[in-house]
Amino acid sequence: MAFVDSLLRKCTSLSHIKQLQAHLIITGLFRFYPSRSKLLDFCATSSAGSLPYATAVFLRIQSPATNDWNAIIRGMAQSDQPTDAIACYRTMSRESSYKPDALTCSFALKACARTLARSEAMQIHSQVIRFGVEADVLLQTTVLDVYAKSGDLDNAQKMFDEMSIRDIASWNALIAGLAQGSRPSEALELFKRMRVEGLRPNEITVLGALSACSQLGAIREGEKICNYIRNEKLDTNVQVCNAVIDMYAKCGFVDKAYHAFEGMSCRKSLVTWNTMIMALAMHGDGVAALELFEQMGRAGVSPDGVSFLGALCACNHAGLVEDGVKLFDSMAGCGVSPNVKHYGSVVDLLGRAGRLEEAFGIVNSMPMVPDVVLWQTLLGACKTYGNVEMAEQASRRLVEMGSSSCGDFVLLSNVYAAHKRWDDVGRVREAMKNRDVRKVPGFSYIEVDGVIHKFVNGDQSHSNWREIYRKLDEIRFRIEAYGYVPETDYVLHDIGQEDKENALCHHSEKLAVAFGLISTSEGTPIQVIKNLRICGDCHAVIKLISKIYSREIIVRDRARFHRFKEGNCSCRDYW
Ligand code: ZN
Ligand code: ZN
Repeated sequence: MAFVDSLLRKCTSLSHIKQLQAHLIITGLFRFYPSRSKLLDFCATSSAGSLPYATAVFLRIQSPATNDWNAIIRGMAQSDQPTDAIACYRTMSRESSYKPDALTCSFALKACARTLARSEAMQIHSQVIRFGVEADVLLQTTVLDVYAKSGDLDNAQKMFDEMSIRDIASWNALIAGLAQGSRPSEALELFKRMRVEGLRPNEITVLGALSACSQLGAIREGEKICNYIRNEKLDTNVQVCNAVIDMYAKCGFVDKAYHAFEGMSCRKSLVTWNTMIMALAMHGDGVAALELFEQMGRAGVSPDGVSFLGALCACNHAGLVEDGVKLFDSMAGCGVSPNVKHYGSVVDLLGRAGRLEEAFGIVNSMPMVPDVVLWQTLLGACKTYGNVEMAEQASRRLVEMGSSSCGDFVLLSNVYAAHKRWDDVGRVREAMKNRDVRKVPGFSYIEVDGVIHKFVNGDQSHSNWREIYRKLDEIRFRIEAYGYVPETDYVLHDIGQEDKENALCHHSEKLAVAFGLISTSEGTPIQVIKNLRICGDCHAVIKLISKIYSREIIVRDRARFHRFKEGNCSCRDYW
């Protein structure tokens, strides 16, 4: 059959393939499957061929052999319609006298991985076991890949543990799956285990591991990975560079991120520029972010929706109201139509600056339906500026949209309370009770000596919790001497003043900072990551801690970085 292979290699167009097919038919070879399947496979999968033509030929074969099916299923799996491969696989299992083999299953599973068809993958997986081909490493890796990509991490992990031989791809699939599935600590553990077992992580592995470090703010591990990339001379392609920049930025080291950005030897992609703009925005360096945005244009890279969002966030975090409005107005001219997030950003910008009328005007002129976040933003601004009328409008819309977020009710109630409208406060509380209002649980991470510690509000599960609470009492005592008064605005429950103060006192970010103070040596900066926005009270307290304990404290919240130093925050209280 070698001559068929050598002839196929010479085919560069469909007409060449047709000539070869004619030759095979004349010589009678086409009736025998090895040559025929090879031709079909080449025609269905190579750029010189055509999947529709291969399929048409396939349909005319009376009793296609397994390799004929494989050729077509493989072609479909890598086409624009991978679901066809799954359908074809089903037909084969049901109707063909030839049965699927390990290759068939692997192609069908690849189609499942591309379409995230988890239940189909599970069916094929069980057939794989029935056919007795489950020990095939490639097949196992593909199954693992489907589970990991479709977010079924438990099955992915199970598959991984059952594998007797694991190739580097199977590790990559699980690490990437865990990192994307919000299970970063496990991803990082797996990465470490891989090194312990003497395996050599490649460019794809480090992408997953760096993403896990970004989520956890695990700078030590992140730096280790960067050293590994350097020492092992991995290919620093644009994806790897982007992941390094993102890791440094999300871990709070914007200077290092910028250094990596500047030192790139490969061409910067749109994602690279966007990552760096967003990094500067999150660190409150609005001017630098806008400058980079301009520079990007000069480098011939046209901004997309993400670039504009980054630049708008930059204006937002730095209070550059006029720049932000101008930027927003320029979007259409650049051929980028604003989506609800861009609207949200500019409304936030105007709202914070107290330009509520303009903010409401924009919301009312939006071509799409404003989402919950947008109304919440407005409600927040109304609370800050004590505008009862607009607050009522915004919360009415929120209630209409079925919001049951505790924060919305708290905000409205605070607006009423500020105006001493106690009847209305009572009404809101009643509504809360009837609506089964739930609060998104807040949590914070802190890394100490390479170990990530997680705290939830009022957490007493940490092994050192008594010590942490004692430290918080001490902090409380010391900051009160500086005239600190708890901002109980941030709690709303039918509880007394003292309990309110306690509830505030044990917010997850305070617990994490207190733990940082007792478990690191004097002068070491403390870095905390919070899943929600930092509250006003924690912000005020951490500012004082940074002064009294002479510590630099960096808090990354959902929206941005706060760098507390000597009693001030880098956000200048604007967040
Ligand atoms: Zn707080
Ligand atoms: Zn701040």
